[in-house]
This record gives sequence, structure tokens and C-alpha cells, in this order.
Amino acid sequence: KKEQLQLLSSVDAVTKDGFSFRLAANMNSLKELDTALHHGADGVGLFRTEFLYMDRQDFPTEEEQFQIYRQAAERMAGAPVVIRTLDIGGDKQLEYFPLAEEENPVLGYRGIRITLDRTELLHTQLRAILRASKHGQMKILYPMISSVDELKQANAVLKQCMEELDGRGIPYDRDIEAGIMIEVPAAAMIADMLAKECDFFSIGTNDLVQYVLAVDRMNEQIASMYQPFHPAVLRMLRTTVDAAKEAGIPVSVCGELAGDERAIPLWLELGVNQLSMSPLSLLRVKHRILNTAAASAQQEAKACFTLSSSTDIEDRLSRFALAQP
Ligand code: PEP
Ligand code: MG
Repeated sequence: KKEQLQLLSSVDAVTKDGFSFRLAANMNSLKELDTALHHGADGVGLFRTEFLYMDRQDFPTEEEQFQIYRQAAERMAGAPVVIRTLDIGGDKQLEYFPLAEEENPVLGYRGIRITLDRTELLHTQLRAILRASKHGQMKILYPMISSVDELKQANAVLKQCMEELDGRGIPYDRDIEAGIMIEVPAAAMIADMLAKECDFFSIGTNDLVQYVLAVDRMNEQIASMYQPFHPAVLRMLRTTVDAAKEAGIPVSVCGELAGDERAIPLWLELGVNQLSMSPLSLLRVKHRILNTAAASAQQEAKACFTLSSSTDIEDRLSRFALAQP
């Protein structure tokens, strides 16, 4: 079975009736690049840069970051590498950067909120990404965006970084794209407004589910309430994807749901054709796509969008997935 799946690494992810997907890899460390390449990833859809900042005594320098981003860009040989700016806070802490105790860390000082407050962190990281952009196809991704103002602030920092590099005569990709994570319900609800200020969306279902349902993604006591197939989540996905289509910008999904084969009919019905997932899920999801007929999957998803119970939706999608070869 494993050997058979491996044969799919160089095959395109296309449904039986010709709907094609781009399957990219999520990366939590540089080591995962090997697995991603081995499993035929169409680029890196989400490079979680937190690991670069962990298990050390101080923030990584611009040079250190540049070397790592450059390696990722070069090894992906022209396929896009989406670098997400530092997303600490919430459950992720750095020893050398103590954060104040918070009553609700997940609703607190985290992600872009930190890097827009401590802009030197964003400057250093964006300069490193820009410098690496000469060595492949890089894109920038901002986490935890919840307003147009935040996005404009981040874009202003990016512009300053470009001017600094221009001043130093350092080359970079002037057309580099900057996109945002859609993982806060507010962002999904104003996706049409945000789409005017960025180049792409990446839907982070892990946090989106947590925030839409008010269910802590780490709390085991309410784990059964953490329901990615909840109708409210499906509606948020639809609102976001429709806004992206209307604005003519690409949208991909990079949360855990992207690696769940049962969700494929939803992507086909919504018109999402880019997914980013753990490198270990790539071939399994591709195998399922190859065995899916988009037309019947879309019918199935249409029915799911009318159901009011997440359990019913999940059951229906599970049965549909099991019925495929
Ligand atoms: C998400 O929230 O869905 C996501 C992909 O980011 P992370 O899991 O790193 O919070
Ligand atoms: Mg997230």
C-alpha cells in the first residue's frame, strides 16, 4: 500500500472528471522539506517559522533566517514557498521573550498583534524573506489578521523593508505576494474588504474552528465540541471563498481539514483547488482525489451545506469517502 502510494508522488492531483488540485506541504521544521519533496509536494503552502525561534537563547538574526528561507526556496526549485511571519503567543512561548500572564492567551497577545507591536521583529523577518525571494518563488503570509487596519500596517512595514533593501542595493523579488491567514471569524466576515489589500488568502481551519465555535482547540474536556464540519464553519468557508473569487485572488486551505479526505467534496463544491497539509498526508489525499468524481462529490457537498447538524455532515462525508475505491 505504501509503495503504491509512493508511485503517486509524481502524478498530478486530478479528479476522475478533470478537476485539478495543487497540493502543497505545511512545514514545522526544515527537516520536513525532505518528506515534502519525497511526497511530491507542489511547493510549501505554510512554513510555520516559529521553530526557527524555539530552542535557542535569542531571536534568530536576519542572516540566520535568510539562510533557512533561501534553502527552502532553492530546494523547492521554483515552486512557491509561503513563509508565515512569526505566530507566537497563545500556546507557543519563547524562553527569551517572556510574555505577561494572560487570562485568555488564545484571545490575547499573539501572532501579528505581537509583531506589529514589536515591529523590529517583523522588520528583521521580512527583510530576510525579501532577500531569500531572489532564490526562488516566495510569498509572505501574515497570521491572525482580524482587521483591514492590521493588514495595512503590515503592508506598510513590508514597504519600508523594501525601501531599506533598495537603499542598501540588495536585490529581491519586487512582485512578491503578501497574503493573510483567514483564521479569525472577523477576517472571514470582512474577507471582501481584506481581499482588496492582499494578494491571497490561506484559510487556517485549526484556529477558525476554535474561534467560530468558542471551543479551545487544546481543551480535551470539550474535544468532542471541536467540530470542523459544523455548519457555521462551512458557512465561514463559503463566505471567504466567495469573497476571494469575487476579488479575483487565490485562496487555499492550510488547516488540518485540508488533510482530511472527507473534506474533498467541500473543496470541489466551494471551488477551492489549493490545499496545504502535513507532508505525510499528501499522497493519501492525492489518492482520494484521483478516485473522486467531482460531479457526484459536489452533489454530496451541496446536500451537506443544507444540513444543520455537524454529526450528520460528518457522517455523510465519511460514508461518501468510504464508498470511493
Ligand atoms: C490554523 O490555525 O489552521 C493554522 C494552519 O495555523 P496553526 O495551526 O499554526 O495555528
Ligand atoms: Mg493558526
